[in-house]
Amino acid sequence: MISNIDHLGLAVHSIATARVFYEEVLGLTCEAEEEVASQQVRTAFFTVGQTHIELLEPTDPTSPIAKFLENRGEGIHHIAYRTDDIEAQLATARRQGLRLIHESPIIGAGGKRVAFLHPKGTAGVLTEFCE
Ligand code: ZN
Repeated sequence: MISNIDHLGLAVHSIATARVFYEEVLGLTCEAEEEVASQQVRTAFFTVGQTHIELLEPTDPTSPIAKFLENRGEGIHHIAYRTDDIEAQLATARRQGLRLIHESPIIGAGGKRVAFLHPKGTAGVLTEFCE
């Protein structure tokens, strides 16, 4: 079951530059900064109630985030829903004929199990399940 929006992923050229808005203007605290080698990104998480803002900076020109920035520029990259059963969410999506980017969960930032759905089946929004 989906409990809430876990985080919004925002693609940025530079976490160092982008974080100023979240820290100085919104007054949020960076809870964690981490490089996720499997996704070729550096991430920074800011907490807003039950939800987080995840800044995503590419660590390599071939990173999916680098491609996104090239094509679309900075902005909202994905929405992540928190679930207590990621396998069940993926099974439901598969039954509905959605295109899965990950057939089974991978380990994302913070050691969470995550999986992405292709935006083609989700009205153009890259969607992440996060357990
Ligand atoms: Zn995410």
